[in-house]
Amino acid sequence: MHPIDDTSLAVALGANRPSAVGSPRATLLAVQPQLEARLRAWATQELVYRWSSLHDTAPVGGPPDQPPYCNAVLLVQGLKTPPSESAALQLLDALQGLEQEFGRDRSHEQRWGPRSLDLDLLFWGELRLEHPRLLLPHPRLHLRTFVLAPLLQAMQGSASR
Ligand code: ATP
Ligand code: CA
Ligand code: CA
Ligand code: CA
Repeated sequence: MHPIDDTSLAVALGANRPSAVGSPRATLLAVQPQLEARLRAWATQELVYRWSSLHDTAPVGGPPDQPPYCNAVLLVQGLKTPPSESAALQLLDALQGLEQEFGRDRSHEQRWGPRSLDLDLLFWGELRLEHPRLLLPHPRLHLRTFVLAPLLQAMQGSASR
C-alpha cells in the first residue's frame, strides 16, 4: 500500500451519460491522458500518477432511474508546490475546463443528475478550504463507496509518469 502524504492530491472521475467519444467507460479512458496533461501543465513539473481501474457503480442520490456510473480515482504524487487556495482554484478551473470539453453542461442539470463527466478534487494534502467554489477535503468523500473503493485501489496500484 503506497502511503498518502501531505503533498498527495486526489481527483475523482465519474460519468453516466455518453460524451462525443462514446460510453462513460470510453469517456473516462479518453480523459485519463488529458487529465494527466492538465495536471502536468498546472504543476509545471513531472508528477507520479496512480490510477484505479474503472469501476461500474450504481447511482447514489439524484433522480430515480438514472443510468449506472463509471468511476475512477487518480492519486497524484511528487508535487512540489505547497497546497494553497489559489493553486487549488486554478486546478478546479482546469478540471471544469476538461468537463466542458467532454460535453458537461451544468445549465441543464439536476443535482446529482446524469452527466457526461464529473471531476471532483477530493483532497490536497492537509489543505482545508471553505471557498464558495471549492470545499476541501471533499465533504462527501467518506460517505461514498464509489469514491473510497477506487481511492484504495489507486493507493495499492503501480505508479506511472
Ligand atoms: P458532489 O459535490 O456531491 O459530488 P456534484 O459533483 O454533482 O456533487 P457539481 O454540480 O459537479 O456537483 O459541482 C457543483 C460545484 O461544486 C462546482 O461548481 C464547484 O465549484 C463546487 N465544488 C465545491 N467543492 C468541490 C470539490 N472539492 N471538487 C469539485 N467541485 C467542487
Ligand atoms: Ca461529484
Ligand atoms: Ca463535481
Ligand atoms: Ca504517462
